[in-house]
Amino acid sequence: MKKEKIALPIKIFIGLGLGIILGLICMKGGAIDNIFNLEAGNAYNVLATYIKPIGDVFLNLLKFIVIPIVFLSIVCGIISLTDIKQVWSIGIKTICFYLVTTCIALIIGVTIASLFKNTFPILETSDLSYQAKEAKNIMQVIADFFPVNIVSPFLNSNMLQIIVISIFIGFAIILTGDKAKPFIEVIISANDVFIEIMDMIIRFSPIGVFCLISPVVASNGPEILGSLAKIIGIAYLSYLIHSILTYSTLAAVFAKISPIQFFKGVAPAAVLAFSTCSSVGTLPVSIKCTEALGAKKEIAAFTLPLGATINMDGTAIYQAVCTVFIAQCYGINLSIEQLATVVITATIASIGTAGVAGAGVVMLAMVLQAVGLPVEGIALVLGIDRIFDMGRTVVNITGDCACALSVSALEERNKN
Ligand code: ASP
Repeated sequence: MKKEKIALPIKIFIGLGLGIILGLICMKGGAIDNIFNLEAGNAYNVLATYIKPIGDVFLNLLKFIVIPIVFLSIVCGIISLTDIKQVWSIGIKTICFYLVTTCIALIIGVTIASLFKNTFPILETSDLSYQAKEAKNIMQVIADFFPVNIVSPFLNSNMLQIIVISIFIGFAIILTGDKAKPFIEVIISANDVFIEIMDMIIRFSPIGVFCLISPVVASNGPEILGSLAKIIGIAYLSYLIHSILTYSTLAAVFAKISPIQFFKGVAPAAVLAFSTCSSVGTLPVSIKCTEALGAKKEIAAFTLPLGATINMDGTAIYQAVCTVFIAQCYGINLSIEQLATVVITATIASIGTAGVAGAGVVMLAMVLQAVGLPVEGIALVLGIDRIFDMGRTVVNITGDCACALSVSALEERNKN
C-alpha cells in the first residue's frame, strides 16, 4: 500500500473512537435526543437509517472480495511451494496449532467462569424459549467439507469447501507440470488484480468501522447490559488472559516477536474484527497484518483462511462462559465430567462455527445439549450477543495470526 500521511491503522482507530462517541451520544434518550428535544430514539433511528447502510456497503465489499482472495491466494500459495509434502506439513502443523490453542482457550474459559460462578446474577428461566437448529454429527460435518459441484461453494460462500477446491487445484497444477503453465499465469495475474481491489476496499476501512460501530453502541445502551455486565466482564477477562498468555507466548517462542510488536501488528485487523464481528470479513486485513509481521506470504495465504473458518478460540471461550452461567441460572452445578464435555464439544462446535457475525450463538445450543442443559437458556444471553461477539471475533482472528506466524517461522527453520 502507498505511504499515506496518517497510517491506515491510526485512521481505523480514529474511526473506531469517533464511532463509539457518536454511538454514545445517539443512544435512546441520550445527549442528542435531549439537546434537540427529540423523542427518545430519534437520533438512533437516524443512525440506523443513514449511517448503518454505509457500514453495510463496506461489509458487503469485504464479503465480495474474500472469496476470490481466499481461492486465489491458496492456489498461488500451493503453487509457490511446489512440493506437496510441504503443503501437508504446513496443513498438519496448522491444524495442531489451532486445536491446541482452542483447548487452552476452553480450559481458561471454564476455569474463570467456574471461579466466578457464585457471583453470577441468577436470572428468571421459567418463561424462556429458543428454537435450536438440529445439530449435525461430526461425520456429517466432515462430509460437508467436500463440495458436490464447483459452483455452489462460491455462490454460498462456503469457505471450507472453497479451501478444499483450492487445495485440489493447487495440487493438480503441481502434478500437471509444464502443461499447466498458461493456467498458472492466469491464476497469478488474477491474484494480483484481486489484491489491488482488496487494497482499494481496505482503504475504506476507517469510514466502514465508524459507520458499523456507532449504531451498535447506540443500540446496546447501559440498560441492556444491566445485570449481564458481569458475564460480559468474565468473558472479556478470559479473552484477555488467553490472548496475552497463549498468543504472546506463541509469537515469542516460535516467531521471536515481542508481545508488544505482535499486538501492535495485529491491531488493525483486531479493530476491524471488533466492528464487523466477522473473521472471514476481516481476512483481507489479517493477511496484510500477518505478512507485515514477517509471515511468509504463501503460508499466511493458506493458514489464515483455514483459521477464519475453523479456529475460533474466542467463540469457544464464550461458549464455555455462557454454559457455566446458564447452568447456574437453572440451579445446576456442572460436574468435572460435564466441564470436560464442555471442553470437547465446544472445540468441535467452534470448528463448525462460521466466521460471520452471530454464528457462535447457534453452536452454543450444541454445547448445552451435550451437557444436558435446556437449550432455551440461550435466550438469557441472546440480547447481548453482539457484545460478546465483538470480543470473541477479535480473539478468533488474533489466534489465527499467532498460529500463522508460528507455522511460518517453524517452516522457515525446517528449511534452513
Ligand atoms: N463472529 C465470529 C467470527 O466471525 C463467530 C462467532 O459468532 O462466534 O469469528
